[in-house]
Amino acid sequence: MTETKTTSTPAAFETTIARAVGAPAPDAPLGALKIDRRTVGPKDIRIDIKFCGICHSDIHFARGEWGKVPYPAVPGHEIAGIVAAVGSEVTRFAPGDRVGVGCMVNSCRECENCQAGDEQYCLAGNTQTYGSTDRDGTVTYGGYSDHVIVDADFVVRIPDGLELDVAAPLLCAGITTYSPLRHWNAGPGKRVAVVGLGGLGHMAVKLAHAMGSDVTVLSQSLRKQKDGLKLGANAYYATSDNATFTELAGRFDLIINTVSAGIDIGRFLTLLKTDGSLVNVGAPPEPLPVPIFPLLLQRRSFAGSAIGSIRETQEMLDFCAKHGIAAEIEVISAAEINEAWERVLASDVRYRFVIDNSTL
Ligand code: NAP
Ligand code: ZN
Ligand code: ZN
Repeated sequence: MTETKTTSTPAAFETTIARAVGAPAPDAPLGALKIDRRTVGPKDIRIDIKFCGICHSDIHFARGEWGKVPYPAVPGHEIAGIVAAVGSEVTRFAPGDRVGVGCMVNSCRECENCQAGDEQYCLAGNTQTYGSTDRDGTVTYGGYSDHVIVDADFVVRIPDGLELDVAAPLLCAGITTYSPLRHWNAGPGKRVAVVGLGGLGHMAVKLAHAMGSDVTVLSQSLRKQKDGLKLGANAYYATSDNATFTELAGRFDLIINTVSAGIDIGRFLTLLKTDGSLVNVGAPPEPLPVPIFPLLLQRRSFAGSAIGSIRETQEMLDFCAKHGIAAEIEVISAAEINEAWERVLASDVRYRFVIDNSTL
């Protein structure tokens, strides 16, 4: 990879240089970069990144599918690493601690949602781990990098029972599925369907199973059926088979849709029981048309959910450690990121690519 250098930090800031891999433009392959990061402030932590998961959101974002991007863009919001330094006011962490950073690194802290501990829904907009302008005016760069500097309030602890490589994907794929499963009361006696068996989907299956739900995978084909059952699903159906939709009509309390592209939502709504909910966590760039009749005829709901709070992310990590749950991963080197992205786009991922950041 050829290396370029970029600066987006206001001149008044002291900076440190980080190695990274990023996208110079929406249609260009990722390449090696040097980026500026702020130095460790009193409330900050410097984390040496050991592993970073590849989320489909990294691709939507870097390719400009969701809107304007400050290029060069350094993606990565499934960060697992070791604390290298802490600011003078940080008391909760010390050098050597095993920590994680997910999709956000700051919020306003004053709005109703921040005050209630739902900072992911900050009414002023949370600061995303990459591609956001932080409260100090600096542009954020993600975890495809050797280190990151983050406000300690947005750092979570990785429990001892979890290895850093398999813990990294929990910071997005784990919390994004854990939060709606909890909010919509997955558990014993509840039938949960997971649409799409990729990074988010495989975590949804493991978590819903560990919560005691009866879990069904709805995948495009039966190619990954054996894996799905091993991950904890009780049943596995292909959505390419029309019989699936007649056989499963009215069956589920909760459907979590993790698909990264548009699907025929109306067909999936008919699989809900009366009062059931379909929660969309997949974030396709195009609007999804939702037919009203399947909703009103059985008082069904169609909803969305974004990641989870920092408190809930810690709760999810502790839940995973307690239940022996982690991501199924394929560890890759920095040189393999472009190829991994193509495989994610081809639904050829089992079930999360994780970058070994020592290869950057
Ligand atoms: P992923 O690993 O690529 O998984 C998506 C899965 O969807 C694929 O494995 C595939 O499963 C299925 N799929 C893909 N294209 C499809 C199509 N055209 N029709 C039907 N099914 C298709 O992606 P991910 O990292 O899990 O992310 C999934 C989505 O969630 C992305 O849009 C991402 O941006 C979004 N996301 C949202 C949040 C949030 O806070 N709400 C957080 C993270 C990610 P099968 O092969 O089993 O069919
Ligand atoms: Zn993500
Ligand atoms: Zn706020």
